[in-house]
Amino acid sequence: SVFSAGASSAAIPTYACQRRTTLNNHNKVLTDALKILAENAEYYESVGRYLAFTRVSSILKSLPYAVTSVDSLRGFPGLGEHCRKVIEEILEDGVCQEVESVTQSQRYQTLTLFTSIFGVGVKTAEKWYKEQHQTLADLRASQIRFTKEQQVGLQYYEDLTTPVTRAEADMIRKTVEEAVYRYLPGAVITLAGGFRRGKETGHDVDFLITHPEEGKEKGLVTKVIQHMASQVGLRHSDTTHHQAIMSCSSVVRALASQKCRKQETSKFDHFERCFTIVKLNQELGAGGQGAGHRPEDKHWKAVRVDLVIVPISQFAYALLGWTGSQVSKMLCNFPHLHSQNEYFSAAAEEEIFAHLELDYIAPWERNA
Ligand code: ATP
Ligand code: MN
Ligand code: MN
Repeated sequence: SVFSAGASSAAIPTYACQRRTTLNNHNKVLTDALKILAENAEYYESVGRYLAFTRVSSILKSLPYAVTSVDSLRGFPGLGEHCRKVIEEILEDGVCQEVESVTQSQRYQTLTLFTSIFGVGVKTAEKWYKEQHQTLADLRASQIRFTKEQQVGLQYYEDLTTPVTRAEADMIRKTVEEAVYRYLPGAVITLAGGFRRGKETGHDVDFLITHPEEGKEKGLVTKVIQHMASQVGLRHSDTTHHQAIMSCSSVVRALASQKCRKQETSKFDHFERCFTIVKLNQELGAGGQGAGHRPEDKHWKAVRVDLVIVPISQFAYALLGWTGSQVSKMLCNFPHLHSQNEYFSAAAEEEIFAHLELDYIAPWERNA
């Protein structure tokens, strides 16, 4: 197999795409600590350290037991001295001094806050930090010229940093279906991202849209977005307060132009897509969940939604890629899958794993 490098008989496979990682993390205290160190490394643009912390954290998440002694770390692929020390300290004292000082540092706190704004990456956050900004209020009062995304990110900060529930995802699905079926009744809509991995909440909702007949899906994203945006204030169902009373608004319109902007990730992901924010209507007093910070007259929540339009021939790849997390990042960038833009054709995710001589890992086992 292409993944058999350094094939010792160690029990823990080297790569995330060879490990089954469910959401049942037995080592959360350790992985939370390593995550903080990884983030901090990222804030210092230290890729090597970022990867080192992330890799070890990913392995810990895959273990079916809680690590209780450093001895049991033997055979951990890629475990460096630094990670080992951190783990040892936490196992012995319950806390790690380095982690404590990172979380207390102004730089870490500010960069974490700023990067939590939609449209703000580490570079921008660092720039603002160096310009002496520390709070959202500082930013709002500043002369900074925000991008359209950042403006929306600041405007709807509370909503966008409140986790999206599965129930909310279902409601959004109805809006998306309504818009998609209008133009393409035979379309197939699939929930991807964290929800497909079994997560109960997410930072957004990811949908893949395809059609059994190749080519029918072309141009759909623009139509769907335009339709959703034209539905401002329209109620498509008043039956119960739980049911979709949704509208998409000018917020969508503002971001519709972001479609197709090339992002990092894998070469073959050139699908029509749109990173949007939709207005999810919520009846006032309906359970009241999440309504805490909201002004009295604001009976909706801004929710990030990703729509990806995929030709059926590439659906398996898109599904793998947009389901996440580490597993898809690894596999989708794997050169064996494509040569000169010709893709090994796969009708299902299982075939992609098989082609790489990997055991199939189900979506809910991809939480590395
Ligand atoms: P959450 O539940 O918090 O949203 P998530 O795992 O769904 O977590 P997302 O950021 O929504 O996280 O991404 C889901 C997957 O979609 C990622 O693992 C990534 O591989 C893929 N993805 C995200 N953005 C892009 C992009 N711009 N281009 C290609 N693939 C992307
Ligand atoms: Mn997501
Ligand atoms: Mn997403």
